[in-house]
Amino acid sequence: MRAARMYGRQDLRIENVPTLGSPPPGWVRLKVEAAGICGTDLEVYLNARRSKEPPLAEREPLTMGHESAGVVVEAGPGVDLPVGRRVAVEGHLFCGECFWCRRGDYALCVSLRSTGQGADGGLAEEMLAPARICLPYSDAITPEEAAVTEPTSVAVRAVRRSRLEPGSTVAVVGGGTIGLLVAQVARLRGAESVVVVEPVAERRALAERLGADRAVSPDDAEDALKDLTDGVGPDVVFEAGGRLAAVRSAVRWTRKGGRTVLVGVSGDTLDLNLMSFLLGEKELIASLSHTYDVDFPEAIGLLESGKVDVRPLITDRIGLEQVVTHGFDALHQEPAAHLKVIVLPNGQPA
Ligand SMILES: [Zn+2]
Ligand SMILES: [Zn+2]
Repeated sequence: MRAARMYGRQDLRIENVPTLGSPPPGWVRLKVEAAGICGTDLEVYLNARRSKEPPLAEREPLTMGHESAGVVVEAGPGVDLPVGRRVAVEGHLFCGECFWCRRGDYALCVSLRSTGQGADGGLAEEMLAPARICLPYSDAITPEEAAVTEPTSVAVRAVRRSRLEPGSTVAVVGGGTIGLLVAQVARLRGAESVVVVEPVAERRALAERLGADRAVSPDDAEDALKDLTDGVGPDVVFEAGGRLAAVRSAVRWTRKGGRTVLVGVSGDTLDLNLMSFLLGEKELIASLSHTYDVDFPEAIGLLESGKVDVRPLITDRIGLEQVVTHGFDALHQEPAAHLKVIVLPNGQPA
């Protein structure tokens, strides 16, 4: 079968790999119908390493892809998902037994691996996954939309962790896929006003189309946020861009006593003046990915009900053979021109 395998820095090869065997107990084999590429994947592609793991070149090549939707073609022993069932794959392979798993914080598992990041993922014709992280979805959404469940569940978790209260004022820094999803979910969870801060004009327009009250450029943000909040500042500021300057701004713009939520991924070190942080009694909250049992089902529900619309976020649909040229290279070379790139490894789903 064909798969997009990561060998090292900017060395992703679309190649033949052995057909996957029968799934072990509790696992399923899926025909991948749609798989998204996101900023985290691009980071891995460009830098060939993630903080916790040795450089990819020192390991076996890995099939990338952590935003996958597929159809069950074979179920291992003890699995009650029927063949033919369409599922969205949450992606975390966790032990289920450690301190954090017992608390339900699976993304903090001591032995966490993820599909496409530590385990073979969905940028392939087929993949293997534990059945418990394969969640069925209804005909209300397409496989493409189902593949966007993963980033949607990132937004669901971030809004949950922000302890957003109805009537809150919210700013979202970064109008990429995650930022635009956070803005939608925050509105649904009762935010009274949502402002998206984003440098690209087309994305600002999209943010307003998707329900943000206002979208402003970073240069205008400080004044706009003060205006909208009578000089107080937003109750909650989500940082969904992952750039250090944006994180600094997000903390600064958060009102005294408010909360800044880090959703964007960054390897940078933040220098924070502790006195001004203390005098503002601000909270800095990190939100990491999602859980299969709370965030992911909630995200599927939001997509099925149409309350969150991911269709305008899908800018590209490509085949597996185009993953490098029209996927990773496109996202790297023209970041402003693409949001969610969807790969259809088996062609257009029926
Ligand atoms: Zn992602
Ligand atoms: Zn664990």
